[in-house]
Amino acid sequence: MLDVVVIGSGVIGLTSALRLQREGARVAIVTADPPLSTTSAVAAAVWYPSGVADGSRVRAWSASTFAELARQAAGETPGVTMRTTRMLTHQDTPDVPWWGAPVSDLRRLEPAELAELAAPYAGGWEFTAPCVEMPVYLALLLDRFLEAGGELIQQRLNTLEQVRGWASTIVNASGLGARRLCDDQALHPVRGQVVLVRNPGLTTSLRVQDNSAGYTYVHPRSTDVVLGGTFDEGSWDTAVDPQTARSILRRCTALVPELRGADITGQLVGLRPARHGGVRLEADDQTLPGTRLVHNYGHGGAGVTLSWGCANTTAALIGATS
Ligand SMILES: Cc1cc2nc3c(=O)[nH]c(=O)nc-3n(C[C@H](O)[C@H](O)[C@H](O)COP(=O)(O)OP(=O)(O)OC[C@H]3O[C@@H](n4cnc5c(N)ncnc54)[C@H](O)[C@@H]3O)c2cc1C
Repeated sequence: MLDVVVIGSGVIGLTSALRLQREGARVAIVTADPPLSTTSAVAAAVWYPSGVADGSRVRAWSASTFAELARQAAGETPGVTMRTTRMLTHQDTPDVPWWGAPVSDLRRLEPAELAELAAPYAGGWEFTAPCVEMPVYLALLLDRFLEAGGELIQQRLNTLEQVRGWASTIVNASGLGARRLCDDQALHPVRGQVVLVRNPGLTTSLRVQDNSAGYTYVHPRSTDVVLGGTFDEGSWDTAVDPQTARSILRRCTALVPELRGADITGQLVGLRPARHGGVRLEADDQTLPGTRLVHNYGHGGAGVTLSWGCANTTAALIGATS
């Protein structure tokens, strides 16, 4: 007999499931797509709370996820590393960013460091943050889940009602799928397109948020580099747009000239599960009377950054009602 059914095998579903297994729960995941076909597999995925509004819960979730991923990196968990990250701006931003608390080495870039860059920037910050290679990490999380006795069921649900009776507790980690499953019109896609190129030897992550030509980032991984990106609010288009790809390559090469001529190894599009009003992480006693239901969805551009913190809260909500 199962204790918990988790809907979704993205980073939110898998971390929730693993966290609940740690409490001794027997858990199954039901998912329309396998982990490597989710939005989570497309994520860049650098710790950084982008595309989510500031708030005490977001600060706490991102801080505890930072700590957990740093611990995993120190333990040489495959796919997780700590990497130097630079955030560059065209406007000078002297105020310490709101998300800075868990980052022990956050510092402003010196004028001399800005002067060395390939293009002019007014300001910038440097810090060390966890970076996750999602195809490796999701496969690892799935292995750990299965090794601990978990079951993965591939099935697209039309309603939450379909899983009633499977277990006493349901965790809804269906990302953008919750728009239909919960009729949640606040949930909407923010389309992200990336280009993957062979890594010419880069080790520092870079991002420029206020580039008038588009949000630009260069995130090196072990063998490739993720180049982005786009934040297309409300777009459901999952096809790669060649013109957008050219623009990404142009912007990233201007930022890091070493990328010129790098072999393209992949092009991906993912739909971030953004939600007006922020992440929905709460117990719901109304929808499936007699079943404990906890929603954990709507993480926008920060699902990896918030994942382990949200998994802790999910476990606490279930513990509080069991
Ligand atoms: C280009 C790009 C770059 C990104 N970069 C970063 C980054 O650097 N840092 C960061 O923190 N975040 C980043 N993100 C955001 C991050 O990818 C998302 O916030 C995160 O993947 C959301 O995880 P999730 O598990 O909620 O959703 P998903 O990964 O979408 O998983 C949802 C799961 O629910 C299942 N599901 C949905 N509907 C149903 C249904 N009806 N029945 C059964 N199963 C269902 C799906 O099959 C899937 O398994 C990025 C995203 C994109 C697209």
